[in-house]
Amino acid sequence: MRSINTIVTCLILASIAQGQTNGIIDYSDSPHTRFHGIDIGDCRWTDGFWAKKFASCEQTMVPHMGDILKGETGHALNNFKIAAGMQKGTHQGFSWHDGDFYKWMEACVYLYAINQNEDLLSELDQLIEIIADAQEPDGYLHTEIQIEKIPHFSNRRFHEMYNCGHLYTAACIHHRVTGKTNFLKIATKNADLLYRLFQPRPKQLSRFGFNQTQIMGLAELYRTTKDARYLELAEIFINNRGNQHDADHPTVTGESIGDMVQERVPLRKETEAVGHAVLALYFYAGAADVYAETGEQALLNALDRLWSNVVDKKMYLTGAVGQAHYGISSRRDRISEGFVGEYVMPNSSAYNETCANICNAMFSYRMLNIKGESKYADVMERVLFNSALSGISISGTHYFYSNPLRLVEGARDYSKMNTESPRRKPYLKCFCCPPNLVRTIAKSSAWAYSLSENGVAVNLYGGNSLSTQLRDQTAIDLTQQTSYPWDGKVTITIERCKDTAFDIHLRIPDWADGSAVSVNGRKLDRELVPGRYATINRQWAPGDVLELDMPMPVRLVEGHPRIEETRNQVAIVRGPVVYCIESPDLPEETSILNVYLPSNSNLTAEFHPDLLGGLTAIEGTIAIRNRSTSTMYQTIKQPAWTMQHATFIPYFAWCNRGECEMTVFLPVIWQ
Ligand SMILES: [Zn+2]
Repeated sequence: MRSINTIVTCLILASIAQGQTNGIIDYSDSPHTRFHGIDIGDCRWTDGFWAKKFASCEQTMVPHMGDILKGETGHALNNFKIAAGMQKGTHQGFSWHDGDFYKWMEACVYLYAINQNEDLLSELDQLIEIIADAQEPDGYLHTEIQIEKIPHFSNRRFHEMYNCGHLYTAACIHHRVTGKTNFLKIATKNADLLYRLFQPRPKQLSRFGFNQTQIMGLAELYRTTKDARYLELAEIFINNRGNQHDADHPTVTGESIGDMVQERVPLRKETEAVGHAVLALYFYAGAADVYAETGEQALLNALDRLWSNVVDKKMYLTGAVGQAHYGISSRRDRISEGFVGEYVMPNSSAYNETCANICNAMFSYRMLNIKGESKYADVMERVLFNSALSGISISGTHYFYSNPLRLVEGARDYSKMNTESPRRKPYLKCFCCPPNLVRTIAKSSAWAYSLSENGVAVNLYGGNSLSTQLRDQTAIDLTQQTSYPWDGKVTITIERCKDTAFDIHLRIPDWADGSAVSVNGRKLDRELVPGRYATINRQWAPGDVLELDMPMPVRLVEGHPRIEETRNQVAIVRGPVVYCIESPDLPEETSILNVYLPSNSNLTAEFHPDLLGGLTAIEGTIAIRNRSTSTMYQTIKQPAWTMQHATFIPYFAWCNRGECEMTVFLPVIWQ
């Protein structure tokens, strides 16, 4: 085997030669993507919405979560110490807790890439040393299995692959950003073990791959080390699935089978997103990573079908996915925390795990770069502003696991639920979502831009500065000024660029009818198509100013007529932000079920700097129905209404003023 040091030296040299290898996904050599990533750190949020979120991530979310995971409550570091023989004790947390710790470490690396805080790096070094001590000589690493002395790879429910995947992803980005090899060495040692075990495709291990982040992780390890075995293994984990679904295989005993884990139908033949939403979307995201390297058309065709099935038939207005905690697939397999039928979109019982929503954006980010189409960035944005940020409190310290679109007091017995709760909690025993969300906020600036063949695509809007190189290695610096998402005006100033023509692709969001673009004050005479990039090709020069104006009227949005749960209801949306109404903004004792929206409500938007961290709220008239219902059905006459002035807040900000009722969709009174 080649020495890791030799490989790493080559890589560092290669990265200096090529540049652009430090993206959150290293697309620098990927032959089958239209877009490529910018390096993490090339874009920094400077002002406005995302700058504030990033500051909270840096100052509160990540340190606070570190205290939890390294302390007794989270016990994640303790697990590594116990596995390393440094302290005595038992494993605590779920089987995937190592993976949750790696996600938090990954967030620390993103912060370091932006702020160059050496304290972060030295702390990571200490943690990596402990993890290295916990790793077995053959490369095996899974603290629960090691501490509890469970046979390795005996049952997939222990999530060995999930932990591996997050290890690889975190280690790759750590190496790229820091040049250090200590974390990467643990990852390659572990991946080499997987290769020895799984590459021969032994029958007894053929069902492995529960919650398989390892496909994404292996693809990234391939991109980082150029060792083709890792890509080969990533493809094996795709090919292994869909060929068997009997329940009596020893490695699946006691666990879900079939559609729940996407193993009833081979991925290339699949037509419907099924099963656990996180498992499914990590799988699809991994397959998209493999496609970016292999260019296999059958894989892309399947991913196209699955992306459309999710987005067009199973996704909430908030970008959330995974409609049901418990349900059944169309092929009659029991599923949990996942997809059920098309257009089945319950509001108050919606599961919508924060991880699943983020995975939806991760899958779309990969499709965006593969295809260069803005509809994928539309989904990323829909998730980010709505069903991702709803997972964490404004304070940055409390978490939702599940993200329903309505909460009705007394309608559900939360005491019997392990992951759903009526308020955000300071700690979740199943801790997969919080570090997933925090790492996403930490890396969000790297999602903001992609590089096209001869230009740069603006994927996300927010005050930022970009200093990067185009694909031809010429420098481009620009700044973006905007109050987005509260205002639709975006000003981009070119600070530095090459002296030959190149493209700037501005994403015109799918909601942004009537948008206009001007260059140096001259309006471009062309129609901009919502849901597409507007490409402006010209010989740019420092000082050039590009302005995009996206009108942001308050909009009423209804669901597809087949969504029974939203028939004759509307949601209030402005720009990319979905709004809701909650108890603190209603007269006392008002049931959320009695709140209706007159269509002539005269909804107006206003920014409130002191409300919930500063946000644009919407005000208007609601109609409160005087009704107390005790019977299942009753004869109705003309209802009596009380008209009331009310405030709507962004959905992501709900439940920050105590436990309350809330709804996104409201029955409408057309007038
Ligand atoms: Zn989760």
